[in-house]
Amino acid sequence: MISVIEARDAILDRIRPLGVERVDIASARGRVLAEDVHATRNQPPWDNSAMDGYAVRSVDTVPSSPDSPAELEIVEDLPAGYVAKRSVGPGQAIHIMTGAPVPEGADTIVRAERALKVDARRVRILQAVESGTDLRRAGEDIRDGDLIIPSGMLIRPAEVGLLASTNRSHVSVYRRPRVAVLSTGDEIVDVDEPLEDGKIVDSNGYALSALVADAGGIPQRLGIIPDTQEALEEALRDGLLADAVITSGGVSVGEYDYVKAALESVGTSMAFWKVSMTPGRPLAFGSIDDTIVFGLPGNPVASMVTFELFMRPALLKMQGYTHIYRPTIKARLLEDLTKSLGRKQFIRVTLQKRGDQYYASRTGAQGSGILRSMSIADGLAVSHEDQEFMPAGQEIEVMLLGGYSGLSDDRNY
Ligand code: AMP
Ligand code: MG
Repeated sequence: MISVIEARDAILDRIRPLGVERVDIASARGRVLAEDVHATRNQPPWDNSAMDGYAVRSVDTVPSSPDSPAELEIVEDLPAGYVAKRSVGPGQAIHIMTGAPVPEGADTIVRAERALKVDARRVRILQAVESGTDLRRAGEDIRDGDLIIPSGMLIRPAEVGLLASTNRSHVSVYRRPRVAVLSTGDEIVDVDEPLEDGKIVDSNGYALSALVADAGGIPQRLGIIPDTQEALEEALRDGLLADAVITSGGVSVGEYDYVKAALESVGTSMAFWKVSMTPGRPLAFGSIDDTIVFGLPGNPVASMVTFELFMRPALLKMQGYTHIYRPTIKARLLEDLTKSLGRKQFIRVTLQKRGDQYYASRTGAQGSGILRSMSIADGLAVSHEDQEFMPAGQEIEVMLLGGYSGLSDDRNY
């Protein structure tokens, strides 16, 4: 038996980021940047007005007496997108729109609410305004040459905007892994096939493909492979054209579990582990040439949980992610839990928030075939190996599963 952490470290040790490709920034969201992006100019490029109002000299805004506000001559109307033709001299103002470059001579902006337009040529300034008010300074967001997005960063909508603002139409990102997904077992049939006695529908092929896509990979479902060594070998050879292969089923020690023999015979150097965890336990991992191979257990929950713990971080690492683990939170148990000693148990839980505290309750029975428990779960509570009994009220770490079910909301903002 090996621990979850030993298994994961051994896997991640073998994983390297895949190659790099250039993509259009419009399709770069969710990808990981494979180059440092530096600014090629200041942003904003010039001082500009943060408000609709008047560009003036601050000394001209001081009233001559408390009841006689300064009155200035409007010498030009300046919309955004244009540069003033005139400069602002003593006693003058340029009517300016938000975003327009601050005209020569002006050192401040009087926002429209602080002014009263008398007519097309004259404006009264209702209060004195300090130099530099309501201006956006050249380079206050980004300075020319700044490292604005480091290599390894996930491209989110804000990064897409930053890339556009620095005139990058294309960027280098890590390639997304193509992942072949194989379901094994004579009892497994596809969703649209007749369900004869003794057969079960291939939920793993679909759930695992969805998990691959969710982790940024490109799933290729290779279908259902019967429990014979020849059929498995043939399917694996196809699978090895991808960056990774996932099989489900057939890695335990049942009489019909040929995955091990087939993997060895197509040449993968595999490790077959018993990981001290529930659900899960049997797990095969190895590689051939540049293809990584994972043999996951057949039980639907076990295959999803082992994917979460081992494959997801591996797929993220292949895509150049530097943060590859799910976030965790601390929650208090709402019920007593008993588990088998010596194994780390990943308990499917729902979470509730009361005040600042999260509370976790089990989704119900924890059988590794009960797929609906994964659908209900908000996260996996991670028990300690060396604990057999965890009383209600104990604090436990909960790994948050991604994807918002849309069933509850935190309206605290
Ligand atoms: P195995 O690991 O092959 O012994 O399978 C363990 C359990 O998982 C058995 O009850 C299988 O019927 C079930 N199982 C295996 N593969 C799948 C699959 N693709 N979809 C749903 N259940 C499966
Ligand atoms: Mg099987």
